[in-house]
Amino acid sequence: MTSTLKINSINAWLKPSDLPLIISGPCSAESEEQVLETAKELAKIDAVKLFRAGVWKPRTRPNMFEGHGEKALKWMQRAKKETGLKTTIEVANPKHVELALKYDIDVLWIGARSVVNPFSVQEIADVLKGVDIPVMVKNPLNPDLALWIGALERLNEAGITKLAAIHRGFDFFKKSAFRNAPMWEIPIELKRLFPTLPIITDPSHISGKRSLLAEIAQKAFDLEMDGLMIETHCNPDKALTDAKQQIKPQALQELLNHIIIRERKGDVAFESKLEEYRSEIDRLDAEMINILARRLDIIDLIGQYKKENNITILQLKRWSNIIQERLENGKNLGVDTEFLTKVLELVHKESIARQTRIYNKK
Ligand code: PEP
Ligand code: MN
Repeated sequence: MTSTLKINSINAWLKPSDLPLIISGPCSAESEEQVLETAKELAKIDAVKLFRAGVWKPRTRPNMFEGHGEKALKWMQRAKKETGLKTTIEVANPKHVELALKYDIDVLWIGARSVVNPFSVQEIADVLKGVDIPVMVKNPLNPDLALWIGALERLNEAGITKLAAIHRGFDFFKKSAFRNAPMWEIPIELKRLFPTLPIITDPSHISGKRSLLAEIAQKAFDLEMDGLMIETHCNPDKALTDAKQQIKPQALQELLNHIIIRERKGDVAFESKLEEYRSEIDRLDAEMINILARRLDIIDLIGQYKKENNITILQLKRWSNIIQERLENGKNLGVDTEFLTKVLELVHKESIARQTRIYNKK
């Protein structure tokens, strides 16, 4: 992919001592006390360089908590004054940008829902002409690298050279362990194309849950990403948004204490290919489990139907036909016969067990 993206240098706005760039704060600014308390706790962690909070929240359905807007900007300003931490918020339109500048926000970010829309990104870029402020661009919801690069380019063409990308994972068609599939090969490819562009990993929105944060954060460093954005809240269980994924500032400190920084391997092309293969495996496994679940659902229907018609569960002839046909098919595709026999037998065993349960039900 060719691009005219011009990024001066990683040091244009990040000094080596700022790296890795750790960004933290609540998903949403909920009250003055919550903002100040969280910021004060975070200020005790040396590694945290930027305090985040959502002031306008993009919600899927209307009539939910949508952020406190301008009022919350005053809380951010106070948090900055009292802790010395620089601040960052999400902006989604020119009005947001204007207010963020009015309240001395240090860094802006554009959220995943806005990055999918080039009109929105262009409007933001247009009001930023002549303004010297760093802007971070989250990946779009859909796994479209060109769209992500396009948003960075629109800002760059408006004169913004202090840029960073935030990797927050991608919408995925089926359930997986993640809230948003990481598809690491996409940020890795971005890094390969623009080696000086800082990429910050957002384990909170990738995982959607606390238990996976540390693992994703470690992986980000193993893949040579440049920082982390992790949501923290002084009372996470009571958070108005993203309660399941937020942690207390103290838990962030612990997570950071356990990160191992390994030597950089530098072979980005190798990592990129490997991640591409791994993502494909993840997708295929999800599909395989989905197909198995659908197969078992049909087995239940058959079981019910046979029961209603008073027919025995095991239909030997049908089973031996299945085996023969499936093994033949597998052979043509290069799947080992012994292996496939074991898989089919396992599936058959489970099918019989499911039907037996249906037969035994009164
Ligand atoms: C957020 O950072 O709280 C947020 C809304 O993120 P995203 O745009 O990645 O969904
Ligand atoms: Mn959030």
